[in-house]
Amino acid sequence: MKTAKFEKAFSSFTDSGPDKIRTQFINMDKNFPTDPSTSNSPLTGWSSVAVHGGHIQDPMYAHQVPIYASSTYVFDSAEQGMRRFDGKEEGYIYSRWGNPTMTEAEAKITALETFQLGIEAKGILHASGMAAIATLLLANLKPGDKILSHYSLYGGTNEIISKVLPGLQITPVIADLRNLSLAEDLMKSDPQLKMLYLETPANPTIQCVDLEALCGLAKKYKLITACDNTFATPYLQQPFKHGVDFIVHSTTKFLNGHGTAIGGILLGRDVALMNGPITKLHRTLGGNSNSFDAFLLIQGMKTLEVRMERHCHNAMEVAGYLENHPAIARVNYTGLASHPDHAVAMKQMRHPGAMLSFELKGGLQAGIGFMNRLQMCVRTVSLGTCDTLLSHPASMTHYSVPKTEKEKYGITDGLIRMNTGIENIQDIIQDLDQALKPFS
Ligand SMILES: *Cc1c(COP(=O)(O)O)cnc(C)c1O
Repeated sequence: MKTAKFEKAFSSFTDSGPDKIRTQFINMDKNFPTDPSTSNSPLTGWSSVAVHGGHIQDPMYAHQVPIYASSTYVFDSAEQGMRRFDGKEEGYIYSRWGNPTMTEAEAKITALETFQLGIEAKGILHASGMAAIATLLLANLKPGDKILSHYSLYGGTNEIISKVLPGLQITPVIADLRNLSLAEDLMKSDPQLKMLYLETPANPTIQCVDLEALCGLAKKYKLITACDNTFATPYLQQPFKHGVDFIVHSTTKFLNGHGTAIGGILLGRDVALMNGPITKLHRTLGGNSNSFDAFLLIQGMKTLEVRMERHCHNAMEVAGYLENHPAIARVNYTGLASHPDHAVAMKQMRHPGAMLSFELKGGLQAGIGFMNRLQMCVRTVSLGTCDTLLSHPASMTHYSVPKTEKEKYGITDGLIRMNTGIENIQDIIQDLDQALKPFS
């Protein structure tokens, strides 16, 4: 049965290929116009775009996007193969270069990061957050360049910036970028600074930097800007709104939301640059994702707004509870007026997020004892899942780091990092309460 709708979907599927499909938004049943961020799409709510954004009706009428488990794509004729390789005809060729399931994930995240901004962008899905960061850095920096960033970056990012880049004659300049006049002095005095790399909020003290102010300075001194938006997600914060050129995510965290796949994405405002040299570099480096992980990511993102609302509500409740607990010396949560970056976070984020950290008065022994008493909450190091996760950097991620080094990053012996989950809030607080009992 070849209906007109079938013809329409099938032709968009076979003839337009990755680059057109990426910005399309077709729902055959409701006949929605194409792109939710820039067109006259009837979708005005964030969650509607999270659910429907990027979806293309499958020509075989599957409701959900299929997992395209195919390494290559066939050509109708040798001439078509020639046109595809020549770039004269768009279409899938080889899954390292693009795959329909990955395209849907890319289009959904791009729609969310550009939601109601009236701008274009392009996202390229990667095998991990680190792969996306590697593509970003290698695409934009060359020997002799310098990169400006701040303390408290994600561990892997810190490794690549401080250990890998220097081997390529790219020098890191790390400073406290909450100090805007220091940031300006550095940019003004060093013409070799090529990129400003930000991560906000950042580990483990939930430090935030001012995206609008720093991007304004970067534009003035002609630096490329990039922001790791993993902790916030596009629901809480849209870095493009503040003038950021590139966004990276570890989709492993809140975007996937269920801890089922590693993934990352690099998004850029300059679509020609993204479609040209950056796509080429990504294809050559080979850090591509795969259709199964992309499928899991797509399913996870549909509930992002609902999850983030609950994560943030629970985090605020937990922060309030911990702030008044006698065993706790300090709570780091940007939702609390006591956090040094409270005002910056409130200015650029919808809610303060799911992540917080707190310091036990009893130090290392209390940290270990508390972790061992947890019953429902989970002892692990990642974040972004539905369940509440706690980690103790001093005995886990940062066990082998010298104490003086740890303190530079705000990691004290009694510090606990928490990803507040979406469980019932009474149950979360009850578990923390019983685990804190011996240390009160
Ligand atoms: C996890 C994480 C990364 C790295 O992502 P992977 O998917 O593990 O490669 C980068 N930045 C932040 C903020 C993260 O939390």
